[in-house]
Amino acid sequence: MGAVEKQRAEVAAPAAWDYAPAPESREIVSFERRYGLFIGGEQVTPRSRSWFTTISPSTEEPLAEVARGGQKDVALAVDAAREAFRTWSRRKPSERAKVLFRIARILQERARELAVAESLDGGKPIKESRDVDLPLAAAHFFYYAGWADKLEYAFPGRRPRPLGVAAQIVPWNFPLLMLAWKIAPALACGNTVVLKPAETTPLTAMLFADVCRQAEVPPGVVNIVTGDGSTGAYLVREKGIDKVAFTGSTEVGKAIQRELAGRDVSLTLELGGKAANIVFDDCALDQAVEGIVNGIYFNQGHVCCAGSRLLVQESIHDQLVRKLKRRMSTLRVGDPLDKNTDVGAINSNAQLERIAELVQSGVDEGAELYQPPCRLPEKGWWFPPTVFTNVAQSYRVAQEEIFGPVLSVLTFRTPDEAVEKANNTPYGLSAGVWTEKGSRILSLAQRLRAGVIWANTYNRFDPASPFGGYKESGFGREGGLHGLGPYLEFE
Ligand code: NDP
Repeated sequence: MGAVEKQRAEVAAPAAWDYAPAPESREIVSFERRYGLFIGGEQVTPRSRSWFTTISPSTEEPLAEVARGGQKDVALAVDAAREAFRTWSRRKPSERAKVLFRIARILQERARELAVAESLDGGKPIKESRDVDLPLAAAHFFYYAGWADKLEYAFPGRRPRPLGVAAQIVPWNFPLLMLAWKIAPALACGNTVVLKPAETTPLTAMLFADVCRQAEVPPGVVNIVTGDGSTGAYLVREKGIDKVAFTGSTEVGKAIQRELAGRDVSLTLELGGKAANIVFDDCALDQAVEGIVNGIYFNQGHVCCAGSRLLVQESIHDQLVRKLKRRMSTLRVGDPLDKNTDVGAINSNAQLERIAELVQSGVDEGAELYQPPCRLPEKGWWFPPTVFTNVAQSYRVAQEEIFGPVLSVLTFRTPDEAVEKANNTPYGLSAGVWTEKGSRILSLAQRLRAGVIWANTYNRFDPASPFGGYKESGFGREGGLHGLGPYLEFE
């Protein structure tokens, strides 16, 4: 018997391999049992004496108790921000920059812990929180740290001045990244902030409070008031604010706009979307399929700029749909902390119900539904990757923001028809164009009514690039040089 064969006979094959724990495992993050509000640089007990439990949407495990800020709490936070504004706004800009650089570096140092916390509290796959949310959040602080002492160059001859206290309300789809989009430019310009995280995803904001402590952010410059929609409404109504920056649903955005009418408070709104991802017959088809999948299934489709309407040139419709379905069948749905997971948990039961209701409407109206076979975990909230073909423009799945992993496919024959259909929505946040012809990209980019247009790619973000919408997708820009303007006034 040869040596190799002899060894085989003596050593039993292991039934399972023992792996070392993943670098991004549950153990690397520990939450406090109960969080207070972050006001004036300290965690304080809410005056409301009210708390709620935040849970993991993938396991329904309770993670921590979080304060529900009431009207008095919001008023205290705004007072703390106003008090801190007096010194922060006069601080040497290069000193403000140092604080922002420190935050950016600490976010990098604590990236693993924060990525795990984000995936636990929000349900998104770890490969997204690790490779997208965290690096981009740190990049935003680095980027705006660089602007802090160069505002005179950003707006030559206009003598920019900070506005005062910024009330900032963020949604649950990118909790820490949206926090960074809001806080970094506000602080760089010399404002102070009161941030209200979403009810279902408050934990990374509470960890960020600790980052502020580590970075020696002066007390009151950043205040975080957790709670529900009513906490957000109190914040908007509070007299002492000078600016509101809101990201969320169009409905709440409109309510905020009504509330601020007639008040001297500046406003930026980043609202919903129903983006067209337009695929021409001359594109690199396999590359387009990857872009389509990324466009709609990234973050379970909980993305305001998701490419949720696929417009395909009629001549390649059948081939593209075949390729797309094959690719969809390789998507792994499940445990957000498994680095192989492509589609994580739906953020909340309420959102799952909303997705299910809209999908049912698509079936009822006559669209053809396809979902690849996949086994969903028993606990938690899940929805399989879904595509609708045979969709008419009037169907609700082609009109309304689903905010879930659901794609609607429509067809077109000419570029004019593609533009017409793409613009046939109350929204105007983003769009994608897939074609080999540069001239066609430029021509479409001029005619599409969307704030961001990606060509032969999708869902690319960079702190230097402005982001924002037209029509019911809101107004004002975040990111880049444009993102400084809404936090400044000029002489
Ligand atoms: P909301 O617009 O209600 O939530 C966004 C933020 O606003 C949250 O922090 C929320 O707090 C807060 N808020 C809620 N009501 C008020 C109010 N009256 N005044 C001030 N702030 C308020 O979105 P939902 O979470 O209800 O999601 C509903 C739909 O909105 C989704 O299905 C999706 O279509 C869309 N959406 C779009 C987003 C985008 O980025 N464009 C992001 C999120 C949702 P709290 O979470 O505590 O209620």
